[in-house]
Amino acid sequence: MTDYKGVMVLGEVADGKVEAITAELLGAGRSLADALGEELSGVLLGSNIAGLSKDLIAFGANKVYTVDDPLLKEYQTDAYVTVIQRVCNEVKPSILLIGQTIIGRDLAPRLAFRLETGLATDCVDLHIDPASKLLVQTHPCYGGNARAHIVCPTARPQMATVRAKTMTPLERNDSRTGSVIPLQANIDQSALKTKVLNRVKEEAAGIRLEDAQVIVSGGRGMGGAEGFKHLEELAKIVKGAVGASRAACDAGYAPASVQIGLTGKIVAPNLYIAVAISGASQHMAGCSGSKVIVAVNKDSEANIFKESRYGVVGDYRQVLPAFIEMCRELVGA
Ligand SMILES: Cc1cc2nc3c(=O)[nH]c(=O)nc-3n(C[C@H](O)[C@H](O)[C@H](O)COP(=O)(O)OP(=O)(O)OC[C@H]3O[C@@H](n4cnc5c(N)ncnc54)[C@H](O)[C@@H]3O)c2cc1C
Repeated sequence: MTDYKGVMVLGEVADGKVEAITAELLGAGRSLADALGEELSGVLLGSNIAGLSKDLIAFGANKVYTVDDPLLKEYQTDAYVTVIQRVCNEVKPSILLIGQTIIGRDLAPRLAFRLETGLATDCVDLHIDPASKLLVQTHPCYGGNARAHIVCPTARPQMATVRAKTMTPLERNDSRTGSVIPLQANIDQSALKTKVLNRVKEEAAGIRLEDAQVIVSGGRGMGGAEGFKHLEELAKIVKGAVGASRAACDAGYAPASVQIGLTGKIVAPNLYIAVAISGASQHMAGCSGSKVIVAVNKDSEANIFKESRYGVVGDYRQVLPAFIEMCRELVGA
């Protein structure tokens, strides 16, 4: 176990760019590595990705391992798990951080099984226990009502998947220096059980929820898809995106792709406007990282008011038109 050293972050690449989660993982990894007095490395898999190493270094990595191969162009479970397993066996990181993303959710449990180690998923906090030097991984459980602190005392690497927007990236600094170590993929094509034939991108109009600095979200109390038109109007004025609770998505008021919460998207905008949302813990799990939450709800006892900085008690049909007018005036739209 003593030959396992350092913190490693699995970088994610989409459309030729390093994903935001990678910078967040590197931010967390940097403070863990500093607490241990060890190095922070990144690993990047893909095709033609050599030029992306500098991004990981600019966000805090001391070293970047790259595995560049046409077979790694698209995420493919067998290929990625096999290659990362080999990288881990070679580099022997003490800690491995992976995003709680579509790729991370697919890859991390398989990798942990193959490496015969433990895995804490969906972590929202990570720190080093000063006495044991073990990684303490915080994972929300019971629908976000409790938090478990998990350690992996004997097996290595200590593996965690990390929820998006819960870790703060370092400020990008292109003067940081680091080394880039290319590794061979050596993929046995016959071992790949699936093949990506085609990729169809979902058309998204306007700002992506994950990137929006303002989100206007609606709940079941909107009463129908018609109500969401007010939210779209407001979102347009404040240059934001529209989100929804699971109940609103299940009822067909909004598409499932905009669901926010434990089983939806995790967002952390500057401003989150929750309209006719009760504030169930599973919903708050997806938006409690927002800087300011504003609630509109006709029930003064609704839980959302406990979670929000500002609140209006009233029927959204009466509150929103005035709110929209005021925003329009303020932004001169
Ligand atoms: C395992 C699990 C995972 C889950 N994951 C998620 C998740 O990812 N995201 C999520 O959102 N939920 C999730 N849920 C569901 C969650 O528990 C709640 O049921 C859901 O969030 C409720 O949605 P809501 O607040 O829109 O609806 P409700 O709880 O029905 O609340 C509607 C609110 O609207 C108000 N209202 C009604 N009419 C008006 C009006 N005219 N004007 C103003 N206010 C009005 C009411 O006072 C009420 O507070 C999950 C549940 C489980 C068990």
